[in-house]
Amino acid sequence: MSCPRIEVDLRKLRHNTRTVVERLKGRGIRVTAVTKAVCGHPAIAQAMLDGGAEGLAEARLSNVKRLRQAGMTCPITLIRTPMLSQVDDIMQVCEASYNTEISVIAALAAAALRQNKVHGVILMAEMGDLREGIMPQDIGYIGQQVVDMPGVALKGIGANFACLSGMAPSATKMQALTSLANKVEGQCGPFLETVSGGNSANLTWVFGSRATGRINDLRIGEAILLGVDPITQEQIGGLFRDTFSLVAEVIETDAKTMSPSISTVHHAPAIVRLVPATSETTRIILALGNQDVDVEGLSMPAGSTLIGATSDHLVIGTTEQKLRVGSEMRFQMNYSALMRAMAAPDIQTSLHNDRPGSQANDAHGPKKHLALV
Ligand SMILES: *Cc1c(COP(=O)(O)O)cnc(C)c1O
Repeated sequence: MSCPRIEVDLRKLRHNTRTVVERLKGRGIRVTAVTKAVCGHPAIAQAMLDGGAEGLAEARLSNVKRLRQAGMTCPITLIRTPMLSQVDDIMQVCEASYNTEISVIAALAAAALRQNKVHGVILMAEMGDLREGIMPQDIGYIGQQVVDMPGVALKGIGANFACLSGMAPSATKMQALTSLANKVEGQCGPFLETVSGGNSANLTWVFGSRATGRINDLRIGEAILLGVDPITQEQIGGLFRDTFSLVAEVIETDAKTMSPSISTVHHAPAIVRLVPATSETTRIILALGNQDVDVEGLSMPAGSTLIGATSDHLVIGTTEQKLRVGSEMRFQMNYSALMRAMAAPDIQTSLHNDRPGSQANDAHGPKKHLALV
């Protein structure tokens, strides 16, 4: 099997999605699955839909096209403010988009009219993350302009938390979003179908709060892909953390001394950790580097420590004596490592436990259906 590769257990992904979908259903909130970290990989997206996600959300048009080319017909919403230069293409593949700029909305409307379509607009409110968003006091006015513009329909409002600033959504902020939804409806007329409360960082708020107000949608990526809370990186109970693994091949094992001789080092490597030079520790090199993955986001197997990485080499100190040239090593990834690895041209994706609903297959464990994409 080719190396390096990402192994994806689609059964675990379906389970994670289903678990989050079920927990949110009780609160009147649906899950829109976010596929940007997996570059719009169609089979991975399908597993999230099979797990009960109601639709998909993507940040990049190229990824949306990939999903459509694979034949996916579910609703796909663009969650990054559209580029003016892409409005015509967006019209062809996305039912709706999140927006913050009236000039972009006007261009979307013009493109929609050219193609005889109506494009859904969700206005993103700035609630304190200080990334994208319209100031809350301006949303009603902009919403009114959207309502008056042929070619677009005001579908809802949304907010985003914990991306740029790392600020988690508080109950107060979420209450403010509910009030904003009521206010925009009062001001502009149409019922807001979607009040999208945020991303995986909102789950703690949902599970811990008694009232979720008008919020009826969350855009979830990290929690279902990796089974963790994005802010604390702690496992979410009942979810798998190991849906994705990165497998790399050992290309050198040796017993070089652990401290590099300073005089021979011309460029300080990005990271070099000193690993005790004990007789049990072997230094190994894997064919994997910064070009493939955010190496800081890899969790090392027990007994192994990251020594350093360059563009194409990963150097590890390990007490595992069985590793030889040609052996494979398996790592868990955080979000940043996953998204870079999924985009790396040299890394293959191998899918396991495909075929939703094939309970017999799932029950008998490791019988694998493998597809390389
Ligand atoms: C990436 C993103 C999400 C999903 O975030 P996760 O932490 O992966 O759940 C949701 N909304 C927007 C606008 C995003 O950019």
